[in-house]
Amino acid sequence: MNASQFNVEEIRNQFPILQRSVNGKKLVYLDNGATAQKPQLVIDSITKYYSYENANIHRGVHLMSQEATNAYENARTTIQSYIHAAESCEVIFTKGTTDSINLVAFSLGETLQKGDEILISYMEHHSNIVPWQLLCERKGLVLKVIPIRENGELDLEAVDNLLSEKTKLLSITHVSNTLGTINPVEDLIKKAHAAGAKVLIDGAQSIQHFPIDVQALDCDFFAFSGHKVFGPTGVGILYGKKQILENLPPYQGGGDMIAKVSFAKTTYNELPHKFEAGTPHISGGIALGKAFEFMQQLNLEQVIEYEHSLLMYTEEVLSSFNGLRIIGTASDKASVVSFVVDNIHPFDIGTLLDKQGIAVRTGHHCTQPLMDFYQIPGTIRASFALYNTKAEIDLFAEALARAIQMLK
Ligand SMILES: *Cc1c(COP(=O)(O)O)cnc(C)c1O
Repeated sequence: MNASQFNVEEIRNQFPILQRSVNGKKLVYLDNGATAQKPQLVIDSITKYYSYENANIHRGVHLMSQEATNAYENARTTIQSYIHAAESCEVIFTKGTTDSINLVAFSLGETLQKGDEILISYMEHHSNIVPWQLLCERKGLVLKVIPIRENGELDLEAVDNLLSEKTKLLSITHVSNTLGTINPVEDLIKKAHAAGAKVLIDGAQSIQHFPIDVQALDCDFFAFSGHKVFGPTGVGILYGKKQILENLPPYQGGGDMIAKVSFAKTTYNELPHKFEAGTPHISGGIALGKAFEFMQQLNLEQVIEYEHSLLMYTEEVLSSFNGLRIIGTASDKASVVSFVVDNIHPFDIGTLLDKQGIAVRTGHHCTQPLMDFYQIPGTIRASFALYNTKAEIDLFAEALARAIQMLK
């Protein structure tokens, strides 16, 4: 399929924020790895919910409560079908990727013994490092780390040596938020399962870029944030296999997660409610469902091809800059480009780009071990979404040339 068949203007028109200006310049938003912008149907659903539908869910006999419950549960079903989960009870609403990973770290962690091992990789986001460190401290577990190569790919040979019968969980990112590397998760899941370990995939940077089929992947857990897939902040998903979730203790205690409470003994509600204590982010869940309705309308094959063309174009444009080095040159990459420029601090470039209306991220991107690996203080990161254009990349390149000129 030809990338030009993808109608980017039609997509852009659905995102009102793309019309605004920043510092007197038309916004060029290249910080999608940090958070994505929201289409009108997501924004409208939040306004509509608070204007006409607001009620607490799963509790009331009254009509509005039933309507809110239906809308929230419909969102769960939409997401279930999008990620191809076998049952809707396997889709747990959380606050986001961080919360999803902490849930697994706590609940699965309760079932582990001193000396058991958790395997992560060198390119993990802090939210897929620190929860495991906390767990290891709490339960006397051992954290092992898969090394990477200079180009930002995992050292796959090392995986075989690191996996053993002690490994209880492999928790790994699908796509690196800093390097763009797409990890071969299908193979990793097979290897980990062969060693008897469960697998959690951090999908925070994959769900917005390519189709996800949790049953085909055969992952045990899949975590992502709503706000990076065109939904609101404060809501996310943990997918987990039913028979695993059923055997885990709850994460938090409170309303909605119980079947019966007495002072002598409390029994827990069935899935997914067992893991959803308290009043959730109802409007957020409903709006996340709308974000997935937006995703469902897309031809993802076209989106993949289009975003790849943005990546290729950016890397080509940047290759003409002297003293610029791209960090992360894996053969399989999502539309994320991190780079450094000789003798200029990333922050200074980011600031001058902002003055010209270009939003990028600078810093360590919550991956400090990666910065140590490359011995850099941080990078400048341009991360693309399906609404970005080649014209925007040209503006970005011109602004970057000006910034470098000024800082030299
Ligand atoms: C953003 C991100 C997270 C954390 O997501 P939150 O929305 O902050 O919870 C985790 N992992 C990766 C790869 C990310 O990009």
